[in-house]
Amino acid sequence: MKIFEQHESNVRSYIRDFPTVFAKAKGYRLWDEQGREYIDFFAGAGALNYGHNPDRIMEPLVDYIRRDGIVHSLDMATSAKAAFIEGFQDIILAPRDMPHKLLFPGPTGTNAVESAIKIARIATGRSSIICFTNAFHGMTLGSLALTGNAKKREGAGTRLDGALRMPFDGYLGANIDTLDYFARTLEDNGSGVDLPAAVIVETLQGEGGLNVASTAWLQRLEAICRKHEIILIVDDIQAGCGRTGTFFSFEPAGLDPDIVCLSKSISGSGLPMALTLLKPHLDCFCPGQHNGTFRGNNYAFVTATEALRYWKDNAFEKSINAKAAKVTGCLVELVDRHPPLQGIVAGRGLMQGIKVGVEGLAGEICQHAFRLGLLMETSGADSEVVKVMPPLVIEDVGLEKGLSILAKATAAALGRRRSGVRHVA
Ligand SMILES: *Cc1c(COP(=O)(O)O)cnc(C)c1O
Repeated sequence: MKIFEQHESNVRSYIRDFPTVFAKAKGYRLWDEQGREYIDFFAGAGALNYGHNPDRIMEPLVDYIRRDGIVHSLDMATSAKAAFIEGFQDIILAPRDMPHKLLFPGPTGTNAVESAIKIARIATGRSSIICFTNAFHGMTLGSLALTGNAKKREGAGTRLDGALRMPFDGYLGANIDTLDYFARTLEDNGSGVDLPAAVIVETLQGEGGLNVASTAWLQRLEAICRKHEIILIVDDIQAGCGRTGTFFSFEPAGLDPDIVCLSKSISGSGLPMALTLLKPHLDCFCPGQHNGTFRGNNYAFVTATEALRYWKDNAFEKSINAKAAKVTGCLVELVDRHPPLQGIVAGRGLMQGIKVGVEGLAGEICQHAFRLGLLMETSGADSEVVKVMPPLVIEDVGLEKGLSILAKATAAALGRRRSGVRHVA
């Protein structure tokens, strides 16, 4: 660990939560240099939905490398890219009647968000973007302006412009429809709210505390956008690619977003890749107006194409939902067994967790989990949520083992609290 402490910037983050040197990973497990095994309930923050080094995704990549397949191509045409576009069209877009065009924005999630808000501004000639409390959309300046977290915003070192924040579903309590306020501001000439270019929303806030937007709220949000000709952007970077049980997180609500941002698990392998989906009338960049050297990661196209095969029928969806039900059951039981947790089960699909009512305790549970061989992260503005996010392909035995470690870690953290000790040795 010394090499990292001595030479790597202070900004390093996950290494502090998981202080060991990892050497190998397969499926839902990782091993460190000492050969210690860890179950992965973190899944690369959602970038490893298909697990680590999945054979059916990585073997075609190994073949491609051996055949001297193109690695880097900017946005030139390659066979690997053509195969991905064709597969995405046939397996994902066409069956869902989505006419969207594919824009390759650069390899990270924040690149997809930046391209989406640029397009929305150009297409409408308006500049402000509506975003929500506790949103997370990435760390470059445009995306950071849309992000809620105060500490991350302070890291900008400059003014963050162009965003206007509205309360997310549930922000003011269960009995208040927060969209009443947004709708009113658009209809009232005295509101001081200019007509925005776009609304950007996560249907389930991954970093912001696993807050779920209800179907009714999402549908009303879409109706408000339609009425005022505001572009609706769904940031499905974390909640998409099957994480919530369907390929897109907005499918159960039946939304028809104008723009969809994808990244994290779109490559299927952990290789960097991002994708912005645009309704054809919004395809308004001139050639090269949004550019970038790494918009053609062909290794990622090869693995992304393989990952699409999981979506050819509904067997994978069914398996995700069965595992999600198991997770819900375990979390509800855990919360019921430990009233001092003051826990509330949150999220949906394989993106669930426990909102812990005791300050600092969620982080302590994750520390104990790590000590017991389980990688888990917290979520939320005050790191108040313990987040369960295994690879979607996790076998039942791994899921059960991980959930039982979580139960032990929870009991251990509560036990420490009772005896007045906060920190894990
Ligand atoms: C991770 C994430 C991003 C940013 O993706 P990066 O690849 O880290 O830039 C944006 N939006 C959401 C919802 C995310 O979870």
